[in-house]
Amino acid sequence: MKSIRYISTRGAQAPLAFKDAVMTGLARDGGLLVPDRIPNVADRLEEWKDLDYPDLAFEIIRLFADDIPESRLRELIADAYSTFAHPDVAPVRAAGPVHVLELFHGPTLAFKDIALQFLGRLFQEILEERDSRLNILAATSGDTGSAAIAGVRGQPRIRIFVMHPKGRVSPLQERQMTSVLDDNVFNLAVEGSFDDCQLLMKTLFNDLPFKDAHALGTVNSVNWARVLSQIVYYFYAAFRVMDSTGAPRVQFTVPTGNFGDILAGWYAKRMGLPVRRLVLATNENDILARFFHTGVYAKGQVVATVNPSMDIQVASNFERWLYYKVGQDPQAIARLMTRFALEGRMDIPRNEHDRVDEEIVAGSSDTRRTLATIRRFHEQYGCLLDPHTAAGVFVAGQFNELEDPMICLATAHPAKFPDAIEDATGQNLARHPLLDALEKAPVRCESLSNSAEALKTYLAARAR
Ligand SMILES: *Cc1c(COP(=O)(O)O)cnc(C)c1O
Repeated sequence: MKSIRYISTRGAQAPLAFKDAVMTGLARDGGLLVPDRIPNVADRLEEWKDLDYPDLAFEIIRLFADDIPESRLRELIADAYSTFAHPDVAPVRAAGPVHVLELFHGPTLAFKDIALQFLGRLFQEILEERDSRLNILAATSGDTGSAAIAGVRGQPRIRIFVMHPKGRVSPLQERQMTSVLDDNVFNLAVEGSFDDCQLLMKTLFNDLPFKDAHALGTVNSVNWARVLSQIVYYFYAAFRVMDSTGAPRVQFTVPTGNFGDILAGWYAKRMGLPVRRLVLATNENDILARFFHTGVYAKGQVVATVNPSMDIQVASNFERWLYYKVGQDPQAIARLMTRFALEGRMDIPRNEHDRVDEEIVAGSSDTRRTLATIRRFHEQYGCLLDPHTAAGVFVAGQFNELEDPMICLATAHPAKFPDAIEDATGQNLARHPLLDALEKAPVRCESLSNSAEALKTYLAARAR
């Protein structure tokens, strides 16, 4: 079979092999990399349905990563998922009307570990082969930073520099990052907001001579390997639920921020997994939910919520979905994205049923409904949901008219958000030994002024 190539949604980048796509991240024309075809695996489902998580991950990932020797790929995957505390990696459990897919058994207790444990090893493998090095620069408001650090800590060819807004991430999330003392990890508390941190990132990445001189890279969710590794658990969960309920197909609800997670589900469906539909859940930052109702994608102001990883207005992975929506027409995407950059808005025509899309539907929750859902699921089913998962479970309740079983993605362990759990239940219920241990752990972090020059000086002195 002809090998898969990665092309840009905006059409102006020469096709890349998988390893080059992973190292490139964002395409040079500003677009996102997508595979030039999506393999159909409908005739392999029967054969795959009893595989354990790493074996299933191998079968799926190798279809898209065909320039890595298979025995080596198998080892990287096995190693990545050996860090998970649950033997199933991503167990599914029934809770009242839904099935909860627990994606939080990795080292930092959020679903981002699924992608970043794999990506960290993949980077190291490629760098080793190319006798090369990488300096990762990241900005975080919460989960991404700690999962990225956990994914690359101790890797000899990689250094990671993670900026967080000083005093503005939760103390628990801050400790998850700053308690990692490996030599290749640098935590920076920036005197500014999360937006300031993102602006610093942008400034450095736009300075191409600096970026190239210091081999700067990112781990953000536009990296194809992140989306790819998340496709796996849609298959894994569907197999468990179809088996236990006898249903021929399933639905998924996904708490959404940057659209990476739900996009992985969309690819799984496109590959032939029998998914009836995907339900996109947002919090008060509901640009995506409004889009799927009206066809108008219009930027608003970000508001802070109880589910901070969903506090996003412009979803970085949305462009990939849009590319397929407009019939894989890179000119149309370039036009839409340019218009959006200029006017903060774009419109997609609705279909003959007055719907934007038949595969993705959407709804939103808010603080009150999310906390009420946490309380109700705890009281009625003994199931403690984190506030991101609870927003999804609330929205799933608005879409329960179909027979198909509903699988809700649980994206974080409740113990990461003890305040929300206490507000919801009146009790301090959410504990995890990994987080308890952080209370006494030594930490390392440096302060940095909100200045691109200061950041450049810092990096230049420490980059590998
Ligand atoms: C990152 C994150 C999300 C959002 O996922 P996207 O892929 O950005 O849509 C949801 N919940 C939690 C806990 C997260 O960390």
